[in-house]
Amino acid sequence: MTTSSSPSSLCATTTEGIGLYVHVPFCASRCIYCDFYSTTLGADARRSFVRALCREIRLRRDEASGQRIATVYFGGGTPSTLSDDGLKEILSSIRENYTVAEGAEVTLEANPDDVSAERAARWRAMGFNRVSLGVQSFQDDILALLRRRHTADEARQAVATLAAADFANLSIDLIYGLPGHDLALWRRDVAEALTLPVTHLSAYALTIEEGTPLATMRAKGWMKEVDDETSLAMYEHLMEATAAANFEHYEISNFARPGFRARHNGAYWRGIPYLGFGPGAHGFDGMASRRHNLPDVKAYTAALLAPTPSLPPAETEHLSMAERADERIFTALRTCDGLDLGRLAADFGADVRHTVWRAAAPHIAAGRLNHEPEGDVLRLSRQGLFVSDSVMSDLMLVE
Ligand code: SF4
Repeated sequence: MTTSSSPSSLCATTTEGIGLYVHVPFCASRCIYCDFYSTTLGADARRSFVRALCREIRLRRDEASGQRIATVYFGGGTPSTLSDDGLKEILSSIRENYTVAEGAEVTLEANPDDVSAERAARWRAMGFNRVSLGVQSFQDDILALLRRRHTADEARQAVATLAAADFANLSIDLIYGLPGHDLALWRRDVAEALTLPVTHLSAYALTIEEGTPLATMRAKGWMKEVDDETSLAMYEHLMEATAAANFEHYEISNFARPGFRARHNGAYWRGIPYLGFGPGAHGFDGMASRRHNLPDVKAYTAALLAPTPSLPPAETEHLSMAERADERIFTALRTCDGLDLGRLAADFGADVRHTVWRAAAPHIAAGRLNHEPEGDVLRLSRQGLFVSDSVMSDLMLVE
């Protein structure tokens, strides 16, 4: 159920600390496959956004009252398109209004074309200790087709620059199944990624989102999609190559060197509360309600910078018990930790466990799910990883 709302309810108390997500809705230009909320508005809009964001951070500080912030994540959009003064102002505002835990993971999403030695040093000095770099591919012709603003060489250089600036926790994103991709090119992308000084790799199969230029290209027959068989072969190669390079496959699309799992995203998958600031940002109270600011940067700044400031337009979704159980099933099965059936029964009732167990039985028999009796945990098998969407949807309670 969705309702419009004023300030959302307070976050559930958690011993490990909550997350804080900042959505920066600006990009220098738009990539043809992307449906994330961002605009290409210029410097004036960005300055107003920073002022409005700092005000939202202050106005909502009671929502985290008494809680430590364990992770901070600047996502977007492209957070690195903000000026360093703007980024610093936002981090200062967070520290002034919230208790950021010592050793908190503080991540900045950046694009390679925004990275320089000077900026990397400033980001490290202001408190970012992790960068997630949007590389996507090491093929220049594919990058140009996607309207990425950097070349493969610039991406390689950006990784080296960030590593030299003492970013010991460095993640890159790759996409497979891109137009023009084949298995040989993907093998080269993966091999190249694994030679870089990165501790974390997120690799996603291309999805063609409605309303994007890429969807139009497909509709007009201007691009050929990679077939399912090739896409599965790409995923299989990714799993083999990352394992050989000592990366742990800890979530369907995420791989990390030991000790470098993404803590912020890990908290999402475990249902830990988080606050979301900025237009389009989502938050979760850790119990049954999700709040998201509407994706409209002009309405956002107008509300917060008005003579009498108000919170930006937002909606709150109240989840039913079955929806919450489905979220648990979906997110837990995506991770290598799996779905703890005992905890599922304790939190949602024995009937829910029974229903899930019945739906899981044919997948266990076919080898797509493994059941570990000792911990009463269900996990996707290697075979199940290739058909994870259909396995998970069979286990869902809500049609
Ligand atoms: S830079 Fe990132 S957020 Fe911006 S359009 Fe490209 S993929 Fe989307």
